[in-house]
Amino acid sequence: MTTQDMTVISADGRHAAPDTVLELRHLIDGAWVPSTSGETFDRHAPATGELLSRACKGGAEDTNAAIAAARQAFDDRRWSDLPGSARAKLLTKVADLIDANRARIALYETLESGKPISQAEAEIQGAADIWRYAATLAWNIRGDSQNALGADMLGMVLKEPIGVVSIIAPWNFPFLIVSQKLPIAFAAGCTAVIKPSEMTSATTVILGELLLEAGIPAGVVNIVLGYGDPVGSLMTTHPDVDMVSFTGSTAVGKAIVAATSNTLKKVSLELGGKNPQVIFADADLDQAADAIVFGVYFNAGECCNSGSRIIVQEDVADALNEKVVALSRKVPFGDPLNPKTKVGAIISPEHQAKIDGYVQDAALAGAKVLLGGDALGVAGLSGQFYQPTVIADVSADMAIAREEVFGPVLSVLTFQTFEEAVTLANDAAYGLSAGVWSENVHTCLAFARQVQAGTVWTNTWMDGYPELPFGGVKESGLGRELGPNGIEEFLETKTVQMRIGKTRQMWV
Ligand code: NDP
Repeated sequence: MTTQDMTVISADGRHAAPDTVLELRHLIDGAWVPSTSGETFDRHAPATGELLSRACKGGAEDTNAAIAAARQAFDDRRWSDLPGSARAKLLTKVADLIDANRARIALYETLESGKPISQAEAEIQGAADIWRYAATLAWNIRGDSQNALGADMLGMVLKEPIGVVSIIAPWNFPFLIVSQKLPIAFAAGCTAVIKPSEMTSATTVILGELLLEAGIPAGVVNIVLGYGDPVGSLMTTHPDVDMVSFTGSTAVGKAIVAATSNTLKKVSLELGGKNPQVIFADADLDQAADAIVFGVYFNAGECCNSGSRIIVQEDVADALNEKVVALSRKVPFGDPLNPKTKVGAIISPEHQAKIDGYVQDAALAGAKVLLGGDALGVAGLSGQFYQPTVIADVSADMAIAREEVFGPVLSVLTFQTFEEAVTLANDAAYGLSAGVWSENVHTCLAFARQVQAGTVWTNTWMDGYPELPFGGVKESGLGRELGPNGIEEFLETKTVQMRIGKTRQMWV
């Protein structure tokens, strides 16, 4: 397969390495500090291979110091005693600072992750909106009361912040994912320690700078840079941490559940997905094809919500495949810094090899590669890119139909009846999101009710709003982020029973 019939955006010569290599430090108790060990690690841009940043490599001592700072800031109530309205004002200020710094944050998000600059800008804008939404939650923390327990008793149900939260984030939406957790934890009155992925530390550090500028008190937020071992692992086992809020792979999510069991911390997990989109024969195939192409190539497929598993009714499978392949050829892949680009680089050479391995294995097992299936060369850029790839004749037992490929690779399966479509859609360990395409609202609703997923899209794909909850069932996660449910994750319930007057003896 040649790339001549694909849309490739080459570098236009604007790719001088950033003037300076970013030096990144930990944020502990309001100060930017190096690692006690003096060790560092480097990040190279996935699109160009250029050295971008040198970060302090956190160890046990740094992580313990960050947890101690968050513990102290929670226990002395410097944050949780503020009225919700005061926390809300600070959250809104952070949102305004994110807006004011959007271009700088988006540039580093693009350089570190390889995603297109236009998408990075939209994500940073979306993240600012979550900070604003979180401010509304901070105004509205309320419990309940029970006034029918008898004349001498009043029951009250208080909502209190859970305490110190460990926030562990992946590399695919570094700024957005931290923004789905931190402002909500802050709204509740929690303090936090954050560990970004070691591949995408820069934008979390920039966020830390903005938090200090906004006036978030020292110790309320702490950032430790480094690897899962030992930083992430200590953040999940330390007795002074009350909750772990994690987004990442299902494998690490399971390890975290095991690690937290010793101290019985609360755990909230946003994990992987193998999300089905079911297309019935009566669907608007042009709209479906457009959404399929968006769903699988958005963020180069490095997306928990990637619509990577198409399940199409047999009668229209060929017609749909034709449309999807034709549209795939038009999607601009290439230079992440060009505003026209819609799909950028793959995060690392190791990940590129993993994506390719799935494709080659599927081809060997008898699947048909209709488009792509190889690395994509982009003139002027020496990083790693992968071709838009469409694979038909996939059967449900192939790894490519069951596991997260996390690349720009679409698998197409077929069905005949509604029941078969639902069975195929649910035939996965994951249950993050699902979609259905049909002009018949009854078909859409019946599917939405029977599919095992945390989010269902009907005749659309991957819309998201801060005011709607997001999360997965089965091996896609535990708990919900965003929406009114989101703040509940960071709150404990305390029951207070008040005796009123001296109307009766307690016991004898
Ligand atoms: P990983 O699970 O590999 O890593 C996620 C984070 O966990 C990283 O910061 C990593 O550190 C850290 N980590 C690794 N091991 C441990 C450990 N033992 N204890 C504590 N922390 C640890 O995921 P990726 O970064 O590769 O991200 C991709 C995955 O994230 C995909 O499976 C994707 O589906 C999922 N995801 C889910 C989303 C959702 O909302 N459901 C959204 C986005 C992504 P480091 O790598 O730096 O060593």
